[in-house]
Amino acid sequence: MDTKPFDRRWHELAEEVMTGMAEWRVQHPHATFRQIEAALDERLARLRARMLQDLALASTAADWDQAPAHEHPVCPQCGQRLHRESQHTRHLQTQGGQDLRLARRYGTCPACGAGLFPPR
Ligand SMILES: [Zn+2]
Repeated sequence: MDTKPFDRRWHELAEEVMTGMAEWRVQHPHATFRQIEAALDERLARLRARMLQDLALASTAADWDQAPAHEHPVCPQCGQRLHRESQHTRHLQTQGGQDLRLARRYGTCPACGAGLFPPR
């Protein structure tokens, strides 16, 4: 797996957190410890959500768009290779309360008719 795109995006995000926090502190010279912590948590939650999304989508199961049929994920019921169906966007919430969207390929089983998002 190529980690370069991650590195670049994550560095940018991490930098946003750090410069954003530094600026926030200048603008809030009398902030309490709790306020500082909340402001930091809010920014870190965004970074965390983005990393989580990138990492989740990077799994092999999520990325079978280009895969030949014999490399498709298998049906958990009967072990048949799944047929590739359309993409669905799944909405999740992280523990930090951030909305997360995962576009995932839906698969159906030609043998037993099961329809599922391959597990990751
Ligand atoms: Zn099946």
